[in-house]
Amino acid sequence: MRLDVVTIFPEYLEPLNVSLVGKARARGQLNVHVHDLRSWTYDRHNTVDDTPYGGGPGMVMKTEPWGDALDTVLADGYETGSGAPALIVPTPSGRPFTQELAVELSERPWLVFTPARYEGIDRRVIDEYATRMPVYEVSIGDYVLAGGEAAVLVVTEAVARLLPGVLGNAESHRDDSFAPGAMANLLEGPIYTKPPAWRGREIPDVLLSGHHGKIARWRRDEALKRTAAHRPDLIERCEPKVFDKKDREM
Ligand code: SAM
Repeated sequence: MRLDVVTIFPEYLEPLNVSLVGKARARGQLNVHVHDLRSWTYDRHNTVDDTPYGGGPGMVMKTEPWGDALDTVLADGYETGSGAPALIVPTPSGRPFTQELAVELSERPWLVFTPARYEGIDRRVIDEYATRMPVYEVSIGDYVLAGGEAAVLVVTEAVARLLPGVLGNAESHRDDSFAPGAMANLLEGPIYTKPPAWRGREIPDVLLSGHHGKIARWRRDEALKRTAAHRPDLIERCEPKVFDKKDREM
């Protein structure tokens, strides 16, 4: 998969060199290009923002640097056979970024991110590229960050761990919170590792029982309890067949 990020803070993307994403890059599973938006400014001050039409506080990112930057990045990707691009526009007014969307994005060959600063990007830039490729305006949560770079890191990490061969154990994300399947819409319950007792706290007996059926049932019950406590809205989204008689008595 190819990723391009256009930003006024390229150094903010340094974490893409470490851990899971860094290793995926080193193995050639991810081909990441970070670009400085100011390379596409031609004035003495490398201006990327201007005052908003209609007045109001804050500044708006200008059309020209974004247009020139995206044209160059796209031309390079097309030339090198990167497949069909999708534009990922981080914005608090976008659709919520979910595991489902992470799965969808992980199936695309090439993602181009446009993390903004100030009050965001002149709308015409997004409208222009939407005529040429799918555009995903995504929000990573109901809060406002100073810029979209942290959102790029979030989306990239969620997507990268789904790419074939990136996780050491391909099964690892099967039981994650939000994973599709039997536990769909349930959060993951508590997890434990050795030693079996620590500061007087013992792990639940069932986990030492070696009884796979009982362990699976315990995990599911704990997932249900945790989801009910932290995200009752997710329980409402579960299909009725997820629950049995015992659950209804809980
Ligand atoms: N005026 C914008 C609004 O109210 O929707 C907020 C702009 S914010 C200060 C600057 C940039 O940070 C945004 O354009 C976006 O790139 C990024 N950003 C802020 N919060 C975000 C969020 N929750 N999800 C994704 N990106 C976000």
